Amino acid sequence: MVIIHSDIGLLDRAYGIVSSCDRCGTCLTVCPLFASDGVERTSARGKNVIVRAIAKGILKSEEEALKALEYCLLCRACVEVCPSQVQTDEAVIYARQYLTEKTGGTRIKYRLIGQWLGNRLSVKTTATLFSLLRRLRMNKLFPPGWLPDEYLAIVAGPAILGNKSDISDLSPRRMEKVAYFEGCGMKLFFPSVAHQTKRILASTSEKLKTPNNFCCGLPLLAHGMMADFIRLSEKNLAIFSDVDAVITDCASCGSTLKHLGRFLPTKEAEAFAQRVMDVSEYLVKVGYIPQSKDMGPLTFHDPCHLSRGQGIKWEPRKLLSAVGDYRDMEGSNICCGGAGSFHLDYPDTAQRLLEKKKLNIEATGAKMVVTSCPGCLIQLSKLSIPVCHICQVI
Ligand code: SF4
Ligand code: SF4
Repeated sequence: MVIIHSDIGLLDRAYGIVSSCDRCGTCLTVCPLFASDGVERTSARGKNVIVRAIAKGILKSEEEALKALEYCLLCRACVEVCPSQVQTDEAVIYARQYLTEKTGGTRIKYRLIGQWLGNRLSVKTTATLFSLLRRLRMNKLFPPGWLPDEYLAIVAGPAILGNKSDISDLSPRRMEKVAYFEGCGMKLFFPSVAHQTKRILASTSEKLKTPNNFCCGLPLLAHGMMADFIRLSEKNLAIFSDVDAVITDCASCGSTLKHLGRFLPTKEAEAFAQRVMDVSEYLVKVGYIPQSKDMGPLTFHDPCHLSRGQGIKWEPRKLLSAVGDYRDMEGSNICCGGAGSFHLDYPDTAQRLLEKKKLNIEATGAKMVVTSCPGCLIQLSKLSIPVCHICQVI
């Protein structure tokens, strides 16, 4: 069943959230966009004022309001520090949906991306094409200048380390019915990481299911396609209805699936969300013994959707401390600038955020940076330091 949100309902929801904002300004100290631009409307406080002004009919230009609200990483740094617990990211999603509908619907590029991600066959076909491009790239068969470097790095895959060949059976096996949720980012750009995650999960469970799931829907939710997001979510609910745990190695998918009940308030969605786990959360819980050793100095970049979206911070560190000289990074949980399509829509800001991340990584003396979200992997791989998904080093 698809829930159709009325315009009034959407704006009411957004207004209901932002009306708790007392404009204290605490969020200004942590918003990466405010730090980068120094402009009030980029902060949570500024965005909340915009939502209020739209709801009260003071701000008339819906296009301008949408433009301002689209400029948000949805990183939840503001939510984490807000004394009034204002969920600005959620308000932004509702307000974007409302304003998108008011201003003639989702923009064509997002609509095309949404339709493409909503179709498993089109994602699979593109993944096969990307895989071919990666092979051509590896064999240096791309004609020079055929694709600009920034696009080549995305479609043909960034340089990341390979997989371990052996995973021994030292970790205890569980009887639970465990399923792997494979995000589109993994399918398209990091199939070798997905392969490695499945091998690890297969070593800790009696029977691992790897169903052909749909996109988690986050890109649709973020860009004014809430009804399509809900349609995809309902299909995924049916696919994973008979398993005890749904494990993902994508922080963005994990956070979206765990918070499904916010947008699809049904018992089934709530029960499903309870069964979703990030791979590091699951592996620590089941007592997985990391297989690598002596990986040298390494550090961890916390994806926003892992540290704040799911509250998972120590589990990756526990696993990484077992495989190498783990070093904590200052600002490890500050957005790297990837943020879904943000780095494509606002490349200059994304680059500024990446430059700050680079300095923090360098200050640790680490020889490798590890993370657990395909969006962060793509963004961080623009740096010269090796970048890995956590499942590639444990
Ligand atoms: S910290 Fe919270 S209450 Fe304070 S201005 Fe920001 S969103 Fe509003
Ligand atoms: S979600 Fe992130 S980018 Fe958006 S207002 Fe909050 S801190 Fe700023």
